[in-house]
Amino acid sequence: MPRRPSTVLIVGAGIAGPALALWLQRYGFRPTVVERAPQLRRGGHAVDLRGVSRAVAARMGVLEAVRAARLVTVDVTLVDGDGAPIETMRADDFGGDGQLSDLEILRSDLAGILHDATAGVGYRFGEQVVAIEPGADGVDVTFGSGARERHDLVVGADGQHSQVRRLVFGESPDAVRPMGVHAAWWRTANHLGLQDRALEHADGDRMVGIRPVDGNRSAAAFLGFPSDGLPPGPYEPEEALRIVRERSAGMGWEVPRLVAAIDDTSDLFLEEFSQVVLDTWARGRVVLLGDAAFCPSPLSGQGTALALVGAYVLAGALATEPDPAAAFATYERTLRPWVERTQALACDGADGPSIAALANDFTLPEPVAAPAMTRAIGETATGRVGDRGCSRS
Ligand SMILES: Cc1cc2nc3c(=O)[nH]c(=O)nc-3n(C[C@H](O)[C@H](O)[C@H](O)COP(=O)(O)OP(=O)(O)OC[C@H]3O[C@@H](n4cnc5c(N)ncnc54)[C@H](O)[C@@H]3O)c2cc1C
Repeated sequence: MPRRPSTVLIVGAGIAGPALALWLQRYGFRPTVVERAPQLRRGGHAVDLRGVSRAVAARMGVLEAVRAARLVTVDVTLVDGDGAPIETMRADDFGGDGQLSDLEILRSDLAGILHDATAGVGYRFGEQVVAIEPGADGVDVTFGSGARERHDLVVGADGQHSQVRRLVFGESPDAVRPMGVHAAWWRTANHLGLQDRALEHADGDRMVGIRPVDGNRSAAAFLGFPSDGLPPGPYEPEEALRIVRERSAGMGWEVPRLVAAIDDTSDLFLEEFSQVVLDTWARGRVVLLGDAAFCPSPLSGQGTALALVGAYVLAGALATEPDPAAAFATYERTLRPWVERTQALACDGADGPSIAALANDFTLPEPVAAPAMTRAIGETATGRVGDRGCSRS
C-alpha cells in the first residue's frame, strides 16, 4: 500500500490555494503555500460566490466573513448613449445566483479572508517555483531563491498563467484557449455618485461598466472589446492605456470621461479572457487546481466557485485515498463534468437563469468524517498505508 502523503506544497495564494490549505490542514496534512507576490494584494476585481460554493464557504467557516466584506450592489442598469435606462438586473434575481450575484466580494478581500482562516499554515510570499522534478515517492522543488525542498505532493494553484502547469505539463498551445475578448479594468472616482448601484453601456460589441466599491467612496470600471488580433497580454501599463484609449474611441455615454480619468496606470489591467482546457489535471504527484487547471474565464462568472469547490473536492479525495493517483482520479472524475458544462456555458453566453441553474447543479461530496481521518492518519503512523476556445468542435 502506498504511504499516505503528508507534506503538500501549494503554489499560489489566490483563492484555490488557501482554500485547499484550509481543508488539508483540517484533514491532518502539512500544507505550505508559496506566493509569487511579495504580500497579499489589495483592490482588484470582484468575484462571485454562487450556488454550491456558498455551502463550501459555510463548511470552511468563512461564509459570514465573506458576507460581511461583500460588495453591496443592488442592481445593474444597462443605459443607452445618453444614459437613459434600457433594462435592469437585480442582485436578488434567480435566488441571488443570476448574472449579478448577491454575494460578490473583491478577489483580494476573499484571498485575505482565506489567508486569515489558515493561520496555522506556513505562507511564504515573494517566492516562486523555478524547477519541479517529480519522483516516485516525492517531488523535488527548486525555488527562485535557490532553495530546494522535497514535498510529498505539489499543487499548482497559481492561476490562469500557471508556472507549475508550464513546468510539469509543458507548453501546450491548446491548453489556453482565447475567448476572443479583451477586457481592461481599473479603479476610478465614483464621479456619478452611485450608491450601491452599477451601470453598464453597450456599443455594438464593446461594453463598459462602472460600479461603486469601498462603501461607495470609489468605483471600479471595466471595458470589454473584441480582441481583433491583439496579443493576449500581459501588457505594460502604458501600452494597456494606449490600447484602452484606442479601442474605446467613439464610444458615448461616460466612456470618454472614464478613460480620460485613468491617471494611475499601476491600477490598470488589460488581458484577453481565456479558458484553460487540459486532458488531465495531474501528472504523477503534481496536480493542478483552480484557474491553473480549468479556468472557465470571467465570462462564466464561476471561476471562484470552481476554485473553492475544486479545493474541497481535491482535499476530500486526498483524505480518503492514500494513493495520490487514485485521489487525483477521484477529484477529476467528480469535478470535470461540472467544469466542462461551465466552460461551455461561458462560450455559449450565460444568461441569468442558466448561470443560476448551473451554479447549483453540483452535488457536493460529504466532508470527510473524523473517524475516516483518524483511520487514515493511524494507518500512516503505523506505516501500513503507506476546439480552440469557444469554437469547440
Ligand atoms: C477581470 C476579471 C474578472 C473576473 N470576474 C469574476 C467574476 O465576476 N466571478 C468569478 O467567480 N470569477 C471572476 N474572475 C475569475 C477569478 O478571479 C478566478 O477564477 C479565481 O480567482 C481563481 O482562483 P485561483 O486561486 O485559481 O487563481 P488566482 O486567483 O489567479 O490566484 C493565483 C495566485 O497564484 C499566484 N502565482 C501566479 N504565478 C505564481 C508563481 N509562479 N509562483 C507563485 N505564485 C504564483 C498569483 O499571484 C495569485 O495570487 C475574474 C477574473 C478576472 C481577471
